[in-house]
Amino acid sequence: MTIRFYNTLSRRLAPFEPLTPGRVRIYTCGPTVYNYAHIGNFRTYAFEDLLRRFLKWKGFEVVQVMNVTDVDDKTIRGAREAGVTLDEYTRPYIDAFYDDLDTLRLQRSEHYPRATEHVPEMLELIERLEANGHTYLSEGAVYYRISTFPSYGKLSGVDLDSLQPGARVDVDEYAKEEARDFALWKAAREGEPHWESRWGPGRPGWHIECSAMSMKYLGESFDIHTGGVDNIFPHHENEIAQSEGATGKPFVKYWLHSAHLIVEGQKMSKSLGNQYTLRDLLAKGYDPLAIRYLLLATHYRRQLNLTLEGLEAAAAAVTRLADFYRRVGEYDGDGPDDFEEPTGTAGGKFEAALDDDLGVAEALAALFDLVTAANRAMDAGELSAAGRKSLHATLDSFDEVLDVFHPTPVVLDEEIERLIAEREEARRAQDYARADALRARLAAAGVVLEDTPSGVRWKRGAAGASD
Ligand code: AMP
Ligand code: ZN
Repeated sequence: MTIRFYNTLSRRLAPFEPLTPGRVRIYTCGPTVYNYAHIGNFRTYAFEDLLRRFLKWKGFEVVQVMNVTDVDDKTIRGAREAGVTLDEYTRPYIDAFYDDLDTLRLQRSEHYPRATEHVPEMLELIERLEANGHTYLSEGAVYYRISTFPSYGKLSGVDLDSLQPGARVDVDEYAKEEARDFALWKAAREGEPHWESRWGPGRPGWHIECSAMSMKYLGESFDIHTGGVDNIFPHHENEIAQSEGATGKPFVKYWLHSAHLIVEGQKMSKSLGNQYTLRDLLAKGYDPLAIRYLLLATHYRRQLNLTLEGLEAAAAAVTRLADFYRRVGEYDGDGPDDFEEPTGTAGGKFEAALDDDLGVAEALAALFDLVTAANRAMDAGELSAAGRKSLHATLDSFDEVLDVFHPTPVVLDEEIERLIAEREEARRAQDYARADALRARLAAAGVVLEDTPSGVRWKRGAAGASD
């Protein structure tokens, strides 16, 4: 069956055909590393993980790029308040982000370009825009004049005609529904990090980074661009204006956006105190695998309401799946039933559901029907050895997409201490690859590390004792 995705650009479900047969290029807006990512961010990253795994499962080669925003209004403010350099300030949050990806089993992208390492590419892009007549200068800053890009608004529906003459913004994020000229390059301010340019010292705006880095790694036109719905305007609208304004070619074929996660029916916000990080949830004792399941199980275009009951139901679901998977592995009966029909039906439904705009709820329903039927066949000793084998293979295939059948490994306290000591030693020996591998192993067990001036502290979220 053909794959269909809902394309925000055309506002409808459309058959998916990559620009190059067999190969899918995806760009994903990544974290701004001024803090730990919150659980809402991971809702979007989990959707992107499902998309990536699904396309690989369908046989495509996937090249995915996720940027790391390590210079913007927030990171600069954070570094200044902490009295450290931008790099010193963002580094621990970048490390923590990779740990959190491992904890949630979110597959790594092929590239994680950092904004601070791609300023020359951004300057080059701004020069192209200048040459094409899309920019103007004001007080040492370079702005994009959006009235020079007639299709501005095609992604978000924002109305270019509502543009007030001279209306422009310096801040990276701005109010919805207000078409405004935005800064590509901002003039250096006292005490802020800056780079040289032909317009004088300054730093890039947020939007230009994603245009420059996506095109560097994926080409001027590529297949899929993802993010949360809040990215549609102004960020993605501005990316289109920048990229197409420079190249004259269509930038992205399919735009996919995930709806937001809310908590107990309310929008997450600092003032409500409900802006949980993954670490907060682990510290409350939730199993990372249950959190993964919860983030995946709601269709990406539906709002996800994070509740206590939802977390408990997710924990029950992953326990049921893990028990079932183990039982199928250990089943040694050899009854008369090859179980071909239920296994085949579940496989067909699972694939058809995901083909249809990642219909994960229907895919999980097909899986749970299979669990019920197979448990019954095993209870009665009717399942044949051959049937068990093909059932097991089907489950392994499903798990390439879902990655929820293998429970979070339980690691004993002594083992954790030993791995941490080993990692310290690797770091002293400057064997960073080994240090990272050890950290990833701990993360996969739901153990989070925090490097403090007085040494490493750890916490765990998976079943077992905690410190
Ligand atoms: P940010 O670090 O704010 O740029 O966000 C990183 C990613 O998380 C972007 O794709 C956002 O659209 C997405 N995001 C932010 N808040 C939420 C939320 N509450 N639920 C789901 N995704 C979100
Ligand atoms: Zn972006």
